[in-house]
Amino acid sequence: MRDLVIVGAGITGAAVFRASARAGLSVCLLDRGRAGGATTAVTSGLFHGGLRYLPYDVATSYAMCLEISRLLAASPGLLKRQVFLWPVYRHHRLGMGLVESLMECYDRFADLRSSPGHFRLSASRTIDCVPAIERSGLIGSLSFDEWRVDVCGLVQGLLAQGRAAGGEVLEGRRVVAFVARDGRIMAARARGLEGRDAEFHARVFVNAAGPWAEEVAVLAGSKAVKLSLRRGVHLVIPHEPPRCGLIFPEPSGRYIGLYPREGEFWVGPTDDPQEGSPDQLAVTPSEAQRLRRSLGTILPGYPAASGRTVAGLRPIFRQFMVPGMLSRDYRIIDHSREGIGNLLSAVGGKLTSHRPMAEDILAAVLPKLEKPAPPPLAVSGGGLASRLLATHNRFASAALSAAMLAYHAMRHAVSRPSALRGDEGFRQAYPDLAEAPSLDQGPHREVPGFEPGADPGAKPGA
Ligand SMILES: Cc1cc2nc3c(=O)[nH]c(=O)nc-3n(C[C@H](O)[C@H](O)[C@H](O)COP(=O)(O)OP(=O)(O)OC[C@H]3O[C@@H](n4cnc5c(N)ncnc54)[C@H](O)[C@@H]3O)c2cc1C
Repeated sequence: MRDLVIVGAGITGAAVFRASARAGLSVCLLDRGRAGGATTAVTSGLFHGGLRYLPYDVATSYAMCLEISRLLAASPGLLKRQVFLWPVYRHHRLGMGLVESLMECYDRFADLRSSPGHFRLSASRTIDCVPAIERSGLIGSLSFDEWRVDVCGLVQGLLAQGRAAGGEVLEGRRVVAFVARDGRIMAARARGLEGRDAEFHARVFVNAAGPWAEEVAVLAGSKAVKLSLRRGVHLVIPHEPPRCGLIFPEPSGRYIGLYPREGEFWVGPTDDPQEGSPDQLAVTPSEAQRLRRSLGTILPGYPAASGRTVAGLRPIFRQFMVPGMLSRDYRIIDHSREGIGNLLSAVGGKLTSHRPMAEDILAAVLPKLEKPAPPPLAVSGGGLASRLLATHNRFASAALSAAMLAYHAMRHAVSRPSALRGDEGFRQAYPDLAEAPSLDQGPHREVPGFEPGADPGAKPGA
């Protein structure tokens, strides 16, 4: 009999597959479709520290930055640097001072991300980098960088390493039932594409079905998995991307991103609740329209109408929080509390956190196989954020985030920002970006009222 059957071959299942095969377990990974073809395939493709989550969940941002530092050391060729600009306009709700305070908080983790930190760019330098950008009302922009990954290549790499260590991957096998006896699952019953069922016996089962994790747990008779599914739609524009990614607001005021890829770029993602089963996910015309309109506000000359849409669901574990402040941390649910002794469910998490999540799942699997668990990952780095991370205390993390942001906003209000963090600093940090002639000429328009060379940093707090 096998040691382990994993249900779901997204990034989470693939990472658990690799970790367990390398730990010497006999393991089989089942997916109802193509490995990595569901949520994982439609992510923004970033390994990031979660600038968006920083104002309310510094512990998770810190954990993701820590993971980036580990990954950069372990697999330096896997990630590619991606520079983003956050343009600030006169009519924007978030002014230069507030955005820069947020960047200063994020700079605290810059070393972990191997980043030079943020820079404050004048309007003219912003236009040099992205000539097609809307110029009317542009004050300047703030730059920061993240890491980009080939998501498909990452999943295939994990599967190849797991197979090389003796693991088995079966695609097109949908788990439709579990066979149980005396409080233990004996087998997962999976239906092939041709409609025939087969049973996969194992001593332990891991539910890594992402947005379907609640449905898979119910098949095992468990009600312990509760998800808050959030829709994420991207618009995919088949056009040479700008050299920098962009962060900008939708007409509603919520911020989205523009993510450069090979020969195209993605705009989004949206963040709305999903009603009903994950199988009912479909992009509505108004979602697509919203993204097209948003792109038109920042890159007015781009062919937004030509874009297709892709959608996925964030499998966030249910928590008592307003929707805009849901933690992207992960949870591992041991169903033995409900009398199912050999089932674990993995919920939440990010592409960025796939490795620590897999290591934690393996640490929970091994004792069930009466094998010694590896020592827990050291939460190194010191400081309050790392201590908070160890406690998983959401409210303490939110309080520390608010305190950090307030401190940086106050410091910003009383001191002049450093000149080293302006156009010249940006040029030195990213010489290729700042010097090379732009590929992206976009539409050239004279905009009345635009003053080339205006320095946004002359007075903070705009
Ligand atoms: C729009 C969007 C953008 C994102 N961008 C980023 C980003 O840039 N960076 C980042 O770090 N995170 C990002 N995330 C979050 C993160 O990528 C996801 O949380 C994560 O990829 C989910 O992976 P998963 O393996 O849990 O789920 P999935 O990839 O959905 O994998 C679950 C698998 O289970 C299979 N399955 C389901 N039911 C069954 C069954 N009964 N039998 C067999 N197989 C089954 C499915 O076919 C699927 O392949 C994003 C999320 C979304 C939605």
